[in-house]
Amino acid sequence: MIPIYYKFSGAKKVALTIDDGPNPETTPLLLDCLEKHGKLATFFLSGDRCEKNLSLINSIRAAGHSICSHGYRHVNYLTLSNSEIFHELQMSEEIFTSIQSSLMPGRPIRLPYGAGVTNSRILDIMNQVNPKFRLIQWSWAPLGWNFLHNNIRSSNDVNLQVKSCMQPYNENSTDISGSIILLHDWSDRPLFCATLLGKVIEQYADYKFVRL
Ligand SMILES: [Zn+2]
Repeated sequence: MIPIYYKFSGAKKVALTIDDGPNPETTPLLLDCLEKHGKLATFFLSGDRCEKNLSLINSIRAAGHSICSHGYRHVNYLTLSNSEIFHELQMSEEIFTSIQSSLMPGRPIRLPYGAGVTNSRILDIMNQVNPKFRLIQWSWAPLGWNFLHNNIRSSNDVNLQVKSCMQPYNENSTDISGSIILLHDWSDRPLFCATLLGKVIEQYADYKFVRL
């Protein structure tokens, strides 16, 4: 199984992916932002959060976005035993068999934390659970994991953090054609997630945003 980091050849196309939803506090803000700008995205959803937020899945699908698997619980597979990984993947399969709407062939999946892409133990188990898995990574994450534990609840904090996250994609080029962009749907920081999404879309407004 070869991880996929870039999706599209040809100019001015990118795939915007949003991980970790659905969350009642944040997903509606992200959907509003995407609708306002007329852009489509791919949501990598956690299975256990899907079970608790079925109406949000319907909202995501109704707006035309793609849905893919981000596993069942949001845990690091590198810390799990073989049987635990098998169980996590099987649980998520049961859910995404019924709700997946991705356009990609096979079953696109992104593991929590992107963990395990070079780990043959995890890749072998993935293959056992579903040989059709396609492991999706990303090529640009305007994210700032280093800000994860900071308090960014005020709008001023949000703007400062978003500004920090919008680092140049590449020192040598501003062209992001073909990129898979990673953003997040974090329940504890809805304003940050929505503001960052809006900034990314505005910065690359002349690109076509395609779904996976
Ligand atoms: Zn995640």
